[in-house]
Amino acid sequence: MSTWQAGGWLDGVRWLPSPNVGERPAGSEVSLVVIHNISLPPDEFGGNWVEDFFLNRLDPAAHPYFATIANVQVSAHFYVRRDGRVIQFVGCDQRAWHAGQSCWCERDNCNDYSIGVELEGSDVQPFTAEQYAALWPLLDALRARYPVAAIAGHSHVAPGRKTDPGPHFDWAAVAARHADLALPAEITA
Ligand SMILES: [Zn+2]
Repeated sequence: MSTWQAGGWLDGVRWLPSPNVGERPAGSEVSLVVIHNISLPPDEFGGNWVEDFFLNRLDPAAHPYFATIANVQVSAHFYVRRDGRVIQFVGCDQRAWHAGQSCWCERDNCNDYSIGVELEGSDVQPFTAEQYAALWPLLDALRARYPVAAIAGHSHVAPGRKTDPGPHFDWAAVAARHADLALPAEITA
């Protein structure tokens, strides 16, 4: 069973505090987990560029793509590497900057009331068994601390704008483990 430290920092994972963080608005309980994928450069795995990106220290000269995003300030609470390592960038009591313009169940600004979980990956490649082995206990730990009522993908809260976590994400496994939660309609249909 995972334990939590003050502010919503999870024991047993690496902490890399991001400056891209804010307070959750008063009264906004954490009720949603948003699943993403990310890789830098896109579709390439293994570097530490995502960590650099979430810490505002991505080298714009290191890759042509990086110059286009170097001034973008984003973060997520968690990042699950291909080998299953989990890195936390934002305490879960605080607001990370992962969803952008978004809406879930007619409620805007998902960052206010959600946890962002990034999987190192892309829309065109399967996630690894190690990532799922890390994601399941992470979701259990989140549910033990927060009144999570739903799990959705970035594509579900920002349709038409975002496509992650993409067609390879195993929603059936999420549904099997969290049958009591609200899941995207297309998953449960
Ligand atoms: Zn995303």
